[in-house]
Amino acid sequence: MNILISSCLLGEYVRYDGNANKCEDVLFQKILNENNIFSFCPEVEGGLSTPREPAEIKNNKVLTKTNKDFTKEFTKGAEKALNLCIKNNITIVLLKAKSPSCGNNMIYNGNFEKILIKGSGICASLLKENKIKVFNENELKELNECINA
Ligand code: SF4
Repeated sequence: MNILISSCLLGEYVRYDGNANKCEDVLFQKILNENNIFSFCPEVEGGLSTPREPAEIKNNKVLTKTNKDFTKEFTKGAEKALNLCIKNNITIVLLKAKSPSCGNNMIYNGNFEKILIKGSGICASLLKENKIKVFNENELKELNECINA
């Protein structure tokens, strides 16, 4: 099956701070071995450089701590992710939890206070709106069941 995965979970150094979030879970490795993986980072694909200022979503805008508006770049990255999914018949994706792009059920509150609230990142939201199933790295069991359903 074709599956899109956040590049940082695959060990690519694309995070805002120049690091990765490589997932070492055994089940993650099994999913990689058994499927056709498309690595994608919506923030980089939207035109942002690495490293970049951290950003959070507030009042439907993506803003950095110094008030730079990244909404356009985040939206472009999300649209590119959706297009890639449509083109390659990808209906299941695995995105990094809590990210303002990739988070699928919790994100930070927009005030840079490290407080999580219910909500989705820009990319995760667009994919969900288009009936794509979005999992995060803490939901690998559910993801694996969905792949094999
Ligand atoms: S935008 Fe997504 S893929 Fe890119 S670094 Fe952030 S969490 Fe990882």
